[in-house]
Amino acid sequence: MMADSPVMNGGHADLWASHNQMVLEPLETGDPEVYEIIRKEKQRQRYGLELIASENFASCAVLQALGSCMNNKYSEGYPGQRYYGGTEHVDELERLCQKRALEAYSLDPQKWGVNVQPYSGSPANFAVYTALVEPHGRIMGLDLPDGGHLTHGFMTDKKKISATSIFFESMPYKVNPNTGYIDYDKLEENARLFHPKLIIAGVSCYSRNLDYARMRAIADENNAILMADMAHISGLVAAGVVPSPFEHCDVVTTTTHKTLRGCRAGVIFYRKGVRSLDPKTGKEMMYNYESLINQAVFPGLQGGPHNHAIAGIAVTLKQAMTPEFRLYQKQVLSNCRALASALEELGYHIVTGGSDNHLILVDLKNKKTDGGRAEKVLEACAIACNKNTCPGDKSALRPSGLRLGSPALTSRGFREDDFKKVADFIHQGILLTLEIQNDMNPKATLKEFKDKLACDGKHREKICSLKEEVEQFSGSFPIPGLPDL
Ligand SMILES: *Cc1c(COP(=O)(O)O)cnc(C)c1O
Repeated sequence: MMADSPVMNGGHADLWASHNQMVLEPLETGDPEVYEIIRKEKQRQRYGLELIASENFASCAVLQALGSCMNNKYSEGYPGQRYYGGTEHVDELERLCQKRALEAYSLDPQKWGVNVQPYSGSPANFAVYTALVEPHGRIMGLDLPDGGHLTHGFMTDKKKISATSIFFESMPYKVNPNTGYIDYDKLEENARLFHPKLIIAGVSCYSRNLDYARMRAIADENNAILMADMAHISGLVAAGVVPSPFEHCDVVTTTTHKTLRGCRAGVIFYRKGVRSLDPKTGKEMMYNYESLINQAVFPGLQGGPHNHAIAGIAVTLKQAMTPEFRLYQKQVLSNCRALASALEELGYHIVTGGSDNHLILVDLKNKKTDGGRAEKVLEACAIACNKNTCPGDKSALRPSGLRLGSPALTSRGFREDDFKKVADFIHQGILLTLEIQNDMNPKATLKEFKDKLACDGKHREKICSLKEEVEQFSGSFPIPGLPDL
């Protein structure tokens, strides 16, 4: 092009000047509309009670890494073998992240490898399945209504819901409807019939430790791979306050944003090196997971790694190795127990009678209401949690429980007494739920209930006053994150 073209230089000079200003402009003035939405969300997080068991507050340093120039860099491939130039720093970053990931879980780099590129927990799981199980090969995971995750193969009799159940054949295992504990005997029996290629030990709504040794034995009997999905508990595992899956499993996947308290991303750990000695020849038999899993992540399922997220994971893992983090995770457990016993004292039924981890499942059947209605009323009172099916529920459409978790509020400095107060707030919310319900036709649908909640003047005042109380209490605690937003 002509360097002195009037169009290039003269004609758009003003627009170029303002373009150059635009790319330097902070969010607050550059895009007040988005800034305002984020500001409101920050207010919601600050003044609400966050009890969603899968959520947490990432630290300032994690968010800074996430919002850094690492966002700009393409680096398809792995450290040392990239399809792009200019990767010396992202190579250094990814290697550091891998090293910290192994250290955080005390893993010997001769025996374990790690892939830190998965965009999140769901793609991490799918990458493992495509790497290690042939198309339509068989997978067993805990059923979704029993506390498993969608990606563990969820389907109904009408529809295959998860891609795991579409591209693989899935058979669930379940909890005992009376005790709420996983029915390992039934898993053992069904595994003998189903011959799975891979068994998943992992949960999204289960408050007890998993029996990895038992699952290892079941996997071995069937020549199956045992994969742990520790998405919910990876922070607790890093701190050593719940049993680690690594001793018994071949592959371990996780998210990094739940109890681990980092940015949203996924990680896959896999065994490598010598698997066993051939009993006849004495020859070393090696694991073959490394190249299969790396290839499944890239180029199999993903493109360029999210280097800003990898920076965030690296910072997360550094924090996860500190004594401060261990203290935090002990408090997560202790707070969860305090919440459980306070609710029990108020007459609530806790599934399995308690918790070994960061969450509880409250069964509301004896309270004559259900999770959907309670969740909506609590939300209106600035208390965030999820409805969840309970063992023995006839229909997933009317789940009878609430899942409550302690990680997020513990990050804000809540202690046992504060969780007692939280239990009181929840109780008041449930009483309001019953009040509204009793004012309606007992056969009213959840939609009718929500409509009444939205426009009912009679109960509005009570809801508003509870909300105000909740907000005043929650607002008195600090909130981690970026100081200016
Ligand atoms: C949250 C979760 C996932 C999925 O993580 P996303 O980051 O939401 O994709 C996978 N497995 C389990 C057990 C989970 O709880």
